[in-house]
Amino acid sequence: MSETTVQHLYFHIPFCAQICPYCAFYKHTPGKLANAAFVEALLDEVVACSKDYEIAPKTLYFGGGTPTLLSRKHLERLLQGLHERLDLSALVEWTFEANPATYNIEKAALMCDQGVNRISLGVQSWHSETLKLLGREHSPEEAKEAFGILRNVGFDQLNVDLMFSVPNQSLEQWEVDLEQVIAMQPEHISAYNLTYEEDTDFFKQLQAGRFREDSDEDALQFRLAIDKLETAGYHHYEISNYARPGAESKHNQAYWAGRDYLGIGPSAVSTIGLKRWKNVADTADYVRQMREEGSVGKDECEVLTPDQKRMESIALQLRTAEGVSLDVVEMNGEVDRQMLIEEGMITEGGGRIVLTEKGKPLADTVALELIG
Ligand code: SF4
Repeated sequence: MSETTVQHLYFHIPFCAQICPYCAFYKHTPGKLANAAFVEALLDEVVACSKDYEIAPKTLYFGGGTPTLLSRKHLERLLQGLHERLDLSALVEWTFEANPATYNIEKAALMCDQGVNRISLGVQSWHSETLKLLGREHSPEEAKEAFGILRNVGFDQLNVDLMFSVPNQSLEQWEVDLEQVIAMQPEHISAYNLTYEEDTDFFKQLQAGRFREDSDEDALQFRLAIDKLETAGYHHYEISNYARPGAESKHNQAYWAGRDYLGIGPSAVSTIGLKRWKNVADTADYVRQMREEGSVGKDECEVLTPDQKRMESIALQLRTAEGVSLDVVEMNGEVDRQMLIEEGMITEGGGRIVLTEKGKPLADTVALELIG
């Protein structure tokens, strides 16, 4: 067993009721796959990883896909199975991603009873026409009902995902989306700028000229989100994330800080030190390999150079409210930051570089300048 202790685990549940046309994650409809066998494969992978690493989880994150699409029976087996296989005494955050209309009060209560303490709800919009364009199955009413179920069973850490810069979405509509989410008072709000990922239907539509990107409109919508959410008491602690004090996502903060994590499930990525790998992105093959070989093949393995890791740290940490340490930026020699300061993109203080309000919409471009 390696000396490494891993405190952060991600589980990839690739099932979705429908495929959203902008989504680039590994996912598919459940089809005829035996979910019981899939759950056993996940549990077996946890055991296999425990032979290689000491696992003492502080955060668990179930994403996908749509983890709440698992049946109550399979969810129960998965959650109980994890309690039997892992020491969860140091766990501080256990997040499940959920989509409206994929769970009922029984499933929600089960998650709560088993120790899941945070739900991230994929609402995306409160407008029917935007939801339809995004290929989402739920209605605004179902999203409200889904939120209410979570509150009723006792969840006090809820995130709502919203999306802006969606084709045909006006600034006024986005403002209504923000006001509606504020009225519901989740502890955390993620507001993502739609991006056109390769190999998605939206990307093809963009290429074909049916959609168009507008960076000025993006910036206006981003600015509106910051203004409205900060005024409502949400701290803008990362480019796409806003939280009540103390409600920041600990799991995501671990990613941004460059901590080690293990990914369990098909296509899940792990990073331990400078080593990074991705599990085979094929659910049937994943289940077969775990059953027959007791381990899972890696689609992509790489050893990052220290410089790559440093560049990654700059790009990720610059997106946070704390910014990036000057030491990390200067590790490989002095980078000329004066121009970025004069342009009002960054400020320096306390040994850290922080994006200004002007720099935030251009975080990726500023990071490239700092990487040098
Ligand atoms: S529900 Fe989520 S994971 Fe599934 S296709 Fe839509 S965006 Fe992707």
